[in-house]
Parts: sequence; structure tokens; C-alpha cells
Amino acid sequence: MLFEVRCAGCGLLGWCPCAACVEALEAPEPALVPGADSVALLFSHSGVGREFIHALKYRGERAIARWLGDSLALSHLGVTASAWPMRIDPASASPMEIDTVTWAPTTAAHRRSRGFDQAETLARATAKALQVRPERLLRRIGSGAQSGTGRSARLSGPRFAGRSSALGRRVLLVDDVLTTGATLAAATAALEGAGAAAVHVAACARRGRDRFPAVA
Ligand SMILES: [Zn+2]
Repeated sequence: MLFEVRCAGCGLLGWCPCAACVEALEAPEPALVPGADSVALLFSHSGVGREFIHALKYRGERAIARWLGDSLALSHLGVTASAWPMRIDPASASPMEIDTVTWAPTTAAHRRSRGFDQAETLARATAKALQVRPERLLRRIGSGAQSGTGRSARLSGPRFAGRSSALGRRVLLVDDVLTTGATLAAATAALEGAGAAAVHVAACARRGRDRFPAVA
């Protein structure tokens, strides 16, 4: 065997992810991202879904990154794969033209400690599946982490600035986890502020709203 691949969900040797883990994924709660033209979510951040995200986020496993990128691309195209639960916003249930795929960059501290930005890894995998070029259209403003030390930082969430190259572009914005949607809403606003023609959002895992009650 040339490559020893283990399933990111259960550790079984052979295929990542294995069919049983894909079937075990739970459907996500719906989510709104203010300002986004559409929102696609793959699965709930629970059980196997959480294992997939951890494999991507903390171990940088390539096989699961590739599979998640392919899945985000499929969800964006409105393709419902019957093999796993997938919720697609009705408004986005048809192929949409996009020019590029981008991501909301993580903090410099996270990037340093992990050696990579999992959102960028996902964006690159998704862009490859969609056969477009990924582009760095956002930069993070300020140095505070999302769960940073300052009270105001926690209250206001992350802030982003859109690059001028976003002007007129139809953008697919991808991320690994959607919790309150605040990060993706801020990133969407920044892209629109920079003149993006459309912003579609696709995230892998929806972290349940039970822990984070919806606030208007
Ligand atoms: Zn498995």
C-alpha cells in the first residue's frame, strides 16, 4: 500500500472518510448569515462531524480537507448527495456562478500555533473542486483573537477588511465551523463593502444553537 489513510471519524484504515462515518453525520440546524446571498451547511458539529473538523483544524489532515472541499463545492452547486445529510438553502439550490473562493483568515496567533489556517486550506480545496482560483480577499483587522482577552473584542467579534480585488467579484466564502454566524457576517460585510457583486457562504459544520441562543 502506497498510502496509509485512516478515516478521520473512526480511525479505520483504508478510506477517509469511511462510508459508515459519512452516513453517521447529522443534519445541521439552519443558519442565517446576514448579507449573504445564500448559505450552505454540510453537517452538525457533533459526533463524527466534530471528529472531521478536529482532524482538519488540529491535525491538518489532507484527506479530510480534500473531502470537505469537494463537499462544499457540491453543496454550492446545489448537488444533494444522498450519501450524507446536507441542508441547502432553497434560494441556493441551483448552480450559481462564482468567480473565486475566499476565506475569513484566522488570527495570526492561531496560524502560528498550528502552522496553517484551516479556513484557507478549505478554501483552496473547494476552489480546486470548482476549478476556480482561490483568492485572499480579506484581512483581519486588529490583533485580538475571537475569544480574546478584551471584553469589547468578545462583544464585537472579529473584524475584517475587504481587499480592492473583491470589486465586482462573485465570491464563495467558506469556513470550517459556523456557530453564531458573526464571523461570516463580518466577512460578508467586508466583501460587500469592497464591492463584491455577490457573496455566497458555505460552511462545513453547524455548531448547535443550544449553547449559543440566537440574539437579534
Ligand atoms: Zn469512519
